[in-house]
Amino acid sequence: MRPARALIDLQALRHNYRLARELSAAKALAVVKADAYGHGAVRCALALEPEADGFAVACIEEALELRAAGIKAPVLLLEGFFEASELALIAEHDLWCVVHSLWQLEAIEQTRVHKPLTVWLKLDSGMHRVGLHPKDYHEAYQRLLATGRVSRIVLMSHFARADEPDAETTEQQIAVFNAAREGLVAECSLRNSPGVLAWPQAPSDWVRPGIMLYGATPFEAEQPQAARLQPVMTLQSRVISVRELPAGEPVGYGAKFISPRPTRVGVVAMGYADGYPRHAPTGTPVMVAGKRSQLIGRVSMDMLCIDLTDVPEATVGSPVELWGKQVLASDVAQQAGTIPYQIFCNLRRVPLDYYGE
Ligand SMILES: *Cc1c(COP(=O)(O)O)cnc(C)c1O
Repeated sequence: MRPARALIDLQALRHNYRLARELSAAKALAVVKADAYGHGAVRCALALEPEADGFAVACIEEALELRAAGIKAPVLLLEGFFEASELALIAEHDLWCVVHSLWQLEAIEQTRVHKPLTVWLKLDSGMHRVGLHPKDYHEAYQRLLATGRVSRIVLMSHFARADEPDAETTEQQIAVFNAAREGLVAECSLRNSPGVLAWPQAPSDWVRPGIMLYGATPFEAEQPQAARLQPVMTLQSRVISVRELPAGEPVGYGAKFISPRPTRVGVVAMGYADGYPRHAPTGTPVMVAGKRSQLIGRVSMDMLCIDLTDVPEATVGSPVELWGKQVLASDVAQQAGTIPYQIFCNLRRVPLDYYGE
């Protein structure tokens, strides 16, 4: 069988979840949207459920997948409902629901669903994506209460630049949030992963860690708390072919790499159809046979080439780590001009193998 695999370390996942709670001294919703950033939402949620305060997903389809797998913990829909007809299912399956727009508030006012809802009322504190305008926030809160259909409201907002330790906008967003919720007695939630790791002053009864659960840093530079994360996914495969080239020979599509010296080239069963980034350039780190080496030439759909010149012990069958505990996904992402979030979400075709139950 093709040796490409993603190993998922559930013990590391639990370690990272505990770190999020420890750093924030708050309750934590484990964000498992987009199939747990490619790590498998059901398996990850089952591994966390004994200790997790709840989960967060992007939409009701993702929430129902967790419920169907037997997850009983709270599940928050981060974008609420997309159409009012979802409210019946939200009530039936005991889901928590973000309200980020006035049309959603109106839908709750008009619904005939009578089971009390838990609503996370989202403020636009400066990101200008979704969320209510600060001038509408108090009124929206009062209107939600007046419906008689809402038993609990959590006040929330989302940071645009918490991954930039020097950005003043995060302090400004905190100030806008605090002003908008003045006089409202309710729990609140502001912090995503970079918020948990770098913004301890942001108020939060609830935090919403995503990328940090999977052990990848949201920051470009080193950060002391992020250094405590444990990578969860190891993307691995094997060398399937080796050849010796003299200096001056091209490798791969487009001849983007020309051997500068006699070069031993290894071919690895991994390509962009697996989600490995096609834009990763020559020089992107890999581990082969326990040693650090690098990608050469263009990534193909099912294969990529690596330099074995300085790893003479590597041969057909040698194990390759594309990212994991030794090659960080965030380093591969940076090389490819993207972020670890996208690297993980792009993963496909490779089987996921779980350990550390
Ligand atoms: C995705 C998401 C998160 C998690 O963000 P990370 O940066 O991965 O921690 C938190 N809150 C909201 C509203 C989100 O959409």
